Amino acid sequence: MQDSQSSQQLSQAIAIASPLPRKSRQARVVWRNNVVTVGGDAPVRVQSMTNTDTVDAVETAIQVRQLAQAGSEMVRITVNTPEAAAAVPYIREQLDRMGEYVPLVGDFHYNGHRLLTDYPDCAQALSKYRINPGNVGKGDKKDKQFGQMIEIAAKYDKAVRIGVNWGSLDQEIMAELMDQNSKRAQPWETRQVMYEALITSAISSAELARNIGLNPDNIILSCKVSGVQDLISVYRELARRCDYALHLGLTEAGMGTKGTVASTAALSVLLQEGIGDTIRVSLTPQPGEARTQEVVVASEILQALGLRVFVPSVTACPGCGRTTSTTFQELAKKIDDFLRGEMPVWRTQFPGVEAMKVAVMGCIVNGPGESKHADIGISLPGNGEAPAAPVFIDGEKALTLRGEHIAEEFQTLVLEYVQRRYGQKA
Ligand code: SF4
Repeated sequence: MQDSQSSQQLSQAIAIASPLPRKSRQARVVWRNNVVTVGGDAPVRVQSMTNTDTVDAVETAIQVRQLAQAGSEMVRITVNTPEAAAAVPYIREQLDRMGEYVPLVGDFHYNGHRLLTDYPDCAQALSKYRINPGNVGKGDKKDKQFGQMIEIAAKYDKAVRIGVNWGSLDQEIMAELMDQNSKRAQPWETRQVMYEALITSAISSAELARNIGLNPDNIILSCKVSGVQDLISVYRELARRCDYALHLGLTEAGMGTKGTVASTAALSVLLQEGIGDTIRVSLTPQPGEARTQEVVVASEILQALGLRVFVPSVTACPGCGRTTSTTFQELAKKIDDFLRGEMPVWRTQFPGVEAMKVAVMGCIVNGPGESKHADIGISLPGNGEAPAAPVFIDGEKALTLRGEHIAEEFQTLVLEYVQRRYGQKA
């Protein structure tokens, strides 16, 4: 590097990347004293959806609680039949009895106008309604039935998500836009017409809701698609055209790694641009996988971007030829599971603990350095190293663990550290 080049480069500090601020209205999703604000200066909210039969009030309440304890700040349940609508107040009651005041969101399609009218207890027990304008009725009935639901939301002062989905896009809007497109000198690609139809459907429905009397602050919009680039295209334009709070999610993201990566890729780009006020990760659970995994992924996306802090983070190296044993992998997993398992209690007992950093490293190369950067860290011995694991606390070497019970002893040290550092603040 030439001298002039290096002095020029050093004269300016490297810009620190951070998400752009959001500029949306703020909705209030309320149950009792629990007010979950969405948009404006509120943190980006995590939400999720149950996959139990809503008619089974007990099973649904249990799953809602699990999702809430994992960090979901609102939980959506499907309300698809009269029996499901009748069960909603009981689900709410069960949760209240458990002291779980997470707001419930009702997901309505086709018959929402009837269910909300016929089951006023259901309408009141829900804190927010999700209405899909593509599924509220056809022709003359569309606006009438949509209006019926909005009137009920306005009457009970409920937030509403107008949730458009490309799988159930309003076919009348799409047909009209396709017709207009055919008359263009240079017609748009079909997917560009679809983007326009999604946004038109969401924004025109929001205008209608406002005209009926719904508080515009209580309108949240979403336009979900299943392609990463499609989602980015649609939400950039949606955010440019309106100031409603936006619910962000890649619909039908899929299973496991694919679903996790696709959701992370799409949501991260938009969140970094300041787009998105609440997120849901629509993962298909793998057989035997907990429903709460979608909450874990959503929280991790926000935490990785520096937008929220939910659980203490565990820095672990990937391992390599220097550490052929699985000891450190097992320890990293054990510590991660331990921290997550304790968080529902720690959240109230040890305020600030969610920002704690723990390091579990595989050998001497990066182990001591990374452990010093953490609040508490351990560097395990790699191949050929002395069988000793130095532990670093607040950047200083505190002690060395040896023997067969390193995992248990380190876990105890973490617990003692949490009690000592965060216990006084409680
Ligand atoms: S810290 Fe050691 S074991 Fe871990 S990846 Fe680096 S060199 Fe490999």
